[in-house]
Amino acid sequence: MEILRGFKDILPTDIKKWHKLEEIARNTLESFGYKEIRTPLLEKTRLFARGVGEDTDIVEKEMYTFLDKSNESVTLRPEGTAGVVRAYIDNHLENLPYKKYYYIGAMFRYERPQKGRLRQFHQIGVEVFGIDNPSIDAEIVHLDKTMLEKLKIGDLRIEINNIGCDRCRPEYIKKLQEYFTQHKDKLCEDCKRRLNKNPLRILDCKNKGCKTVAKDAPKITDYACDNCKNHFNNVKKKLQSLNIEFIENPYLVRGLDYYTKFVFEIITDKLGAQGTVSAGGRYDGLIEQLGGKATPGIGFASGCERLIELMDEEKELLFDYYIANLSEDDYALDIASKLINLTNKRIYVEYEKRSLKSMMKKADRMGTRFVVIVGENEKNKNSVLVKDMKNSTQNEYDLKIFLDNEVKRWL
Ligand SMILES: [Zn+2]
Ligand SMILES: [Zn+2]
Repeated sequence: MEILRGFKDILPTDIKKWHKLEEIARNTLESFGYKEIRTPLLEKTRLFARGVGEDTDIVEKEMYTFLDKSNESVTLRPEGTAGVVRAYIDNHLENLPYKKYYYIGAMFRYERPQKGRLRQFHQIGVEVFGIDNPSIDAEIVHLDKTMLEKLKIGDLRIEINNIGCDRCRPEYIKKLQEYFTQHKDKLCEDCKRRLNKNPLRILDCKNKGCKTVAKDAPKITDYACDNCKNHFNNVKKKLQSLNIEFIENPYLVRGLDYYTKFVFEIITDKLGAQGTVSAGGRYDGLIEQLGGKATPGIGFASGCERLIELMDEEKELLFDYYIANLSEDDYALDIASKLINLTNKRIYVEYEKRSLKSMMKKADRMGTRFVVIVGENEKNKNSVLVKDMKNSTQNEYDLKIFLDNEVKRWL
């Protein structure tokens, strides 16, 4: 029997990392005064249709929706905010003296599985209700950044944007629509569809043609109302006073409809295209939209699988190369010195006489990214056998090609 596509077991060999992630996250969140809330995995489909937005990719094509035995349409939660808002309204949490919550748990989206993207994935997120002071916007960025730093995830950049509100965004969307209509022939099929329903989403389309057109699109900052502008400027001031560096990205839009005024993403380039580590923003209309009293809200969420992947790179590895030296002569030394000169990476050459099997065991215990296997056979062919310990793949390369590849790898 096979596991479902896009799903993954977390085995005992990996569970330590998860415990560590959860422990560091919890400690950081609690130290900022946030309290844990656990909401059900399954909710009425209506909640997400209304809360996330009918025209979003999530609601249109990615939800696990089915009829239960009493013919009620139910959905596995695709994100955390709508459920926490529902719980806040349902349980009259406005009566509690504290307003800051966090959650850790599984989410479900029927997406095309790829590296770093699963159909059941996990998120750590926070939600804050009833505070419109821009200080709280800065606080959640500060909290997010602190949590990532405690997880020893480096090389991060913070991008922020003002996304407007009910009063100023419609005007902006009209301008966007006009602009993109002029360039309709250059847009992808998805974006042609988005043009009428949700032109904001064209701004974060990954398609090359769309990206080129989006570069010169009107900016929300030129259309934001005074209220949104003031709020955004105040958030920036608070971030500066916290010494938090950020980049203003006028085209940063989030995939969800409910955001208002302030949105942000924390991004790393270490994971290739899947670079967003955390994302969030303000959603001042959502609680009312889901049947509660008009209440401002703000939050962010972070993908656990990505965090785990990044923690990995940073933490566990002690060496970049382990040279499994099986030959008597200097071929291995020669390779090691070339690697050091070309890449400046951490290289461990094995001089103890051991079997290949015991060297592989040792390399694994030491925490090594690559094992370069060099024996008589390789020497005679002027090649190397390379095992990538992360992906468990093994390939033989001509020495020159290997060295060229390794130089490029660390650029
Ligand atoms: Zn506004
Ligand atoms: Zn597109």
